[in-house]
Formats: sequence, structure tokens, C-alpha cells
Amino acid sequence: MSRLKQAGLFNFKTDDKTAACLSVLVPYPVDKAYDYIVPEGIALSIGDYVTVPLGNRQIPGVVWGGAEGGVPAKKLKAVVFPHNLPPMPEVQRKFLDWVAHYTMSARGAVLKMSLSVPKALEEAKPVKAYKIASGANAEKVKGLSPQRRRVLEVMGDGHPRRSSEIAEAAGCGVAVIKSMESAGLIVAEEIRSAAPCRAPDPDLPGPMLSQAQREAVAAIDAYAAARSKGAVLIDGVTGAGKTEVYFESVARALHDGKQVLILLPEIALSNAFLDRFKARFGCAPALWHSHLSPGQRRRTWRGVAEGQTKVVVGARSALFLPFADLGLIIVDEEHDPAYKQEEGVIYHARDMAVVRAHLGKIPIILVSATPSLETMQNVWEGRYAHVHLPDRFGGARLPDVEMIDMRADKPERQHFISPTLNKAIEETLQNGEQALLFLNRRGYAPLTLCRSCGHRMDCPRCTAWLVEHKQSGRLHCHHCGFEAMQPKTCPECGAADSFAVCGPGVERILEEVKRTFPEARTMMLASDTADNNEKLGKMLSDIRDHKVDIIVGTQIIAKGHHFPGLTLVGVIDADLGLQGGELRAAERTYQLLHQVAGRAGREGKKGKVYLQSFMPEHRIMKALSSEGEREGRDDFLKVEALERKAAHMPPFARLAGIIVSGREEAQVIEVAKALGRTAPQGASKDRQSIQTFGPAPAPFARLRGRYRYRLLVRADKKVDLQKTLAAWIESVKTPSTVRVQIDIDPQSFL
Ligand code: ADP
Ligand code: ZN
Repeated sequence: MSRLKQAGLFNFKTDDKTAACLSVLVPYPVDKAYDYIVPEGIALSIGDYVTVPLGNRQIPGVVWGGAEGGVPAKKLKAVVFPHNLPPMPEVQRKFLDWVAHYTMSARGAVLKMSLSVPKALEEAKPVKAYKIASGANAEKVKGLSPQRRRVLEVMGDGHPRRSSEIAEAAGCGVAVIKSMESAGLIVAEEIRSAAPCRAPDPDLPGPMLSQAQREAVAAIDAYAAARSKGAVLIDGVTGAGKTEVYFESVARALHDGKQVLILLPEIALSNAFLDRFKARFGCAPALWHSHLSPGQRRRTWRGVAEGQTKVVVGARSALFLPFADLGLIIVDEEHDPAYKQEEGVIYHARDMAVVRAHLGKIPIILVSATPSLETMQNVWEGRYAHVHLPDRFGGARLPDVEMIDMRADKPERQHFISPTLNKAIEETLQNGEQALLFLNRRGYAPLTLCRSCGHRMDCPRCTAWLVEHKQSGRLHCHHCGFEAMQPKTCPECGAADSFAVCGPGVERILEEVKRTFPEARTMMLASDTADNNEKLGKMLSDIRDHKVDIIVGTQIIAKGHHFPGLTLVGVIDADLGLQGGELRAAERTYQLLHQVAGRAGREGKKGKVYLQSFMPEHRIMKALSSEGEREGRDDFLKVEALERKAAHMPPFARLAGIIVSGREEAQVIEVAKALGRTAPQGASKDRQSIQTFGPAPAPFARLRGRYRYRLLVRADKKVDLQKTLAAWIESVKTPSTVRVQIDIDPQSFL
């Protein structure tokens, strides 16, 4: 392999003729970087974005290193052209290599997450922008109209901006700006980048922090200065003021000219958060999530790569943006399962963010009211710094949490709300306050069956029941999106009108609420009723503005929102998440219910939470009802930790899920069995070091028409899991029609 010879240039000797060669990684599922010739007259450095020929296409890529060799230079093709962008920083390339190795994915597949907007490599068309004319500023110019004065104030920081941007910020029409150009107050120039949020202002006055918040800020500063710990956790109940605390760290990073990444679960990327950011820093951050328009994606990607965009607030994939100079990462709601990407490159964004921070030698702040056991274990073992905000900000009180024993407090037949909860709803309405009923199940009923023969309506493509949705009048599969009309007669026995529904979904709860409280204004909020950000935003603002009295919602409502009039939360089925017995079932249920409970009584009025349960003596219910004392939570987590340790499970050992899938069941079984026969198993004296369980049909034995088998590998932390797995899986011949996916640190076992 040839080595880097001079600053930024590669030489590769062939047949006495010297041609510069280098390797380019392309965003396709290949691990290898391909060699290319550098055309004469072009200087390329590692990290440069280039367009290269592959087959008969031209595709983007990134210069990854010196030539790999192996292909005679005569046969190599030349780089077509470089793109006019700063090179991808070394830390980013190291990070991508690291993620590829850890998740056992092809490097090109990981690069694809970084090069997610190929169009952004092309320079944007120049746009007309304005700057203040020299000598003209809001203080100096006399006799300005209020509108013109505001325009000059908005432009005071000297950044060129498009007229539409200025008009929006100053609250005037574009005509005002045109007239100011004619008057010589402002001058036009061409800019290429229209990066959003060029200048969040760290010097705007933040709120007066409380004593506890100031101490938290000081502790985070101390961590950031020393960085002798892997991360810092801000741990505090919802409403404790954690966001304001980490905004201080954002301000510090901005002061140093650094970029900042704030990760949020997608669902929490609400306007409310953006408004708070705007209030603190004077402009909106750049956003990164799955609902952006192509133009927005392009602008943000390019702004980030060029270093002009200073703050990105985004869902997990924002972690892979090619930041020019990232100085701080924040992972809010660090415990949230949405940080796990379950398809393609399977990774956990919180864990990878910690790695990214480590590689970049920058601080990382994890934030949660209900930290994951993994994170708490890191705190307990001294690897993470810990900052605790024990109380709600401004003395707002935590809600009282009370259990309702559904065995004693029975709802009417075919009803799901207990008399106690009904009474509480009634009182809440009488007080002119709002109630939220929480059930994490979409649709009308989870199960539809035939009363005559017992036939259940299931999905033709998945191992899953079809869920009746009354609003659409159809049966839906929540796993693959399959839909069908509810048949009139049973497809099995032909009986007419024989279908009965079992159990409640949110639609059914809404129906019950409407019957019991016909006067109340109601709303149902689930991912299928609020299927885009605008709709969701409107519904959330309707709740804030008290246009509804009773909200029935799924977990979409649980996160981050702040509803001043909401004083009652009723959890319809607190036991729901405990069924199935997955590794993290208890932890997740605790987190979700705590979060839902946190919606009640965030302002002035104290809130009340009722949990309907058939097992009120369960330790989760105990921990939840002793809310407010962190001991409740920590005791719960410590017991959870003991159980995991005894079972030799994460975070005390490592897991890898192996999912074998394909359309031909026989082929899938054959591969799964072959894997099972050669699976890593520790020698008898050291059984615990590594063990493989399975193969067994996956709980979703069929998904989207693919048959699925699973194996689970459990290993000591000292085992090189990736190396072991790679050797094992490579040794088994797999036809191209069967897919073997590896899920390192699995969160889902379905
Ligand atoms: P968390 O992120 O812990 O849930 P927030 O940062 O959202 O808490 O704070 C809860 C509420 O208290 C918010 O409405 C926030 O604006 C307010 N708040 C927090 N800290 C302060 C402060 N120092 N001064 C004024 N209001 C604050
Ligand atoms: Zn399905």
C-alpha cells in the first residue's frame, strides 16, 4: 500500500510513469474504498468530496486514503472532478470507520448516512442578499421609520441575508427592503450559501438561573474543562430546568466559535422547543429530521459542512452530518428508544454520540428525567459525571401519583375507565382544567375475532393481528402498513356480522369518554391522526390554548410538551408495556409512565396522576407512586441492575442479535440452523464468556412477507464480539436470497 507522500498528495508508482492515485469511499453498501487516478492539475487531499465514475455512472464519494493497490494503474479510472467544499474532517472519517466496525456494517453504508444529500455537494446557485451600507446603522441614521429601523437592527450583526429572511425577522414586507436598497441604506451582494441560522447569539441574556441551575452549569463546565469522564448526565425531573442549563453550555460553545449538535427523539422536535431556542439565542436552529423538504436538507447539510450553520437540532441521523468544527453534543431524553435505528446500519445514536465526542475530544451532555440503566450504571461506576436537579423549576410541584387497583375498582362491562378515574375527570372538568388519558395503543381495538368460530383477523404478511380503526373503517397492520376493509362475513366460517372486538385502543377510549362526558371537548392524538408536523403542531397548540378538555393519546403526547391547563393524567393500562417480558420492559414502562405523569400540573396548579393497574403491588408501580423522591427511581433501577447482573445481561455483558430472513422459509431455516451449528460457545470451563441461544423463530416469525429466525449471542465485555461474529458468519454459506442482519446491543428482540 502506498503512503501519503507530500502534503495532501498521493503518489502511486506504475510502469515508470508516475500517476497520483488514491482511494475513494462511495456511499454504497461496500466496505472497500476504490482506487482512482488523480487527473493532472488537480490537487486532492484526504477527506475531499469528489465525483468518480463507477460502472457507467458518475457518483459522489470521499477521498479516504492512499491507493489501496491491487489494481494496475492502467486499469484505473480517474476522478471526474472535486467538489468545492471543505474536506470531511479527519474525526468524521474516523468516526464513520469506527461505526462501521462496531455495527459490522460496510463502510460505504455508513458513509451514506453522512453523504445523505448528494445534491448538497453541488454549489448552491448564488442568491441575492443584503448587508447594511457602510455608515448606516440603526443608531446613526436619523429619521428612520420604525420599520426601517427594525430592518437595520435585524441586520446589525453584519451577516448578509436574503430579503425574505430579513422581512420575516423584522416583520415587514419585502418592499420595505427594496426601498431601503434604493435609499442606499443597505447594499446587495451575491451569496452562495443560504445556510439557516448562521448566527445564534450566545450573548443574549438568558433567564436568571436558580441556585441549583447555577451549580449544575458549574459542574458541567468543570466536566467540559477536564473531560476526564466519558460524558455528563443532567438528571432531573421534567420541568426541573434542564434545558435552560444545557443552553448555557450551548452558549459557551458558540462563544468559542464551535458548532453544536442537539439530538432529540424525532417526536420531541416540536415548535415549542424551537420557540424556546429562538427566545434564548435570537434565531431558530437548523433542523434535521425525516420530514424536511429537499431544499432544507440541502441547505442544512451544506451549512454544516461549511461550518456556517452553528447549531443543528435533529433526530438521530443528525449525528452523521459532516460538521466542520463540532464542539458540543447534547443528547436530550437519552433513554429514548427512538435513538436506536433498527434498519440498514443498526446503531444506537446515544452510544455513537458518546464515541463521536470521544474521538473529537469534545464534551457530551446526556439529559433525562429517567436515565437508562446503562447510563446510570456508568454514573455509579464513576465513568460519567452526574449533575442532579432535584426539584421542578420555580417551585412547581410534582403531581401526586395514585394507583387504581382494577381488580377492585371495576369499570362497567365493556368499559375501560374505572369509577375513580371517571370521578377525577369530572372534577377536573368542573374546575375548568384539562385531563389526559393515556393508552399506548393506536386504533379502536387490538384484536378482532369471530364470535362463531374464534377466527382472528391477522395480517397476511406478518405474524400480527390486524387492528381495527373506526376512523378509517379499516383493519390495519401496525407493522407493515397492510390495510383491508373489515369484512362483513367471517372469512373462515362465513358467519355474518359475527365480529367482536377485544380490548381497547385510543379510539375506543375516546368513544367511552364521549359517552360519559358528552359536553366535553375531546381530541384523540396518535401518530396516525397527527401524521405530519403541521397537524401535530396545530393539535398541540389547541391543547395549550385550552380548546379541548379531554385528550386521549398515545406516546406521541408523552414527550416534552408543556400544557399549562393540564392537571389530570389517567393511564388506562399501566401494565401494558410489561407484557412480553423483554429485557427492558420494566425500565421502559417506568420511563414512559414517568414521562406521561410529568405532563400533569406543570404550572402553578398541582397535578394528579392515576395509574390503572391489575398489579399495583409490582415494584414499578411502587417506584412510580413514590414519585418525586429520586430514591424511588434509583431503588427501582438498582434492583433492575441486580437482576440484569444476575442474569448476565447488559449493561454487565454484551448482546448481539442475529436475524436471518428471507421469502423462502426452508432457506431461512437452513441458514439459521447452519449458524446454530457453528455458533460461538464458550468452552465448558468458561461457559459464561460467550454463549449463543437459538436459532428460534422470531416473535414476528413473518414480517412484510419475510420469514424470520433469530439467534442471540451473549458475551463477556472482554470478548472481541465483532471479531468473533465476523469469523462465524463468514464461515456459513448464505444464498443471496437470505439476509443475515447483525444487531449489536439489540434493544428489540422481536
Ligand atoms: P426540563 O428541561 O428539565 O423539563 P425546562 O428547562 O423545560 O425543564 O424548564 C421547565 C420550565 O421552567 C420551562 O417553562 C422553563 O422556561 C422554565 N424555566 C427553567 N429555568 C428557568 C429560569 N432560570 N428562569 C425562568 N424560567 C425557567
Ligand atoms: Zn403486516
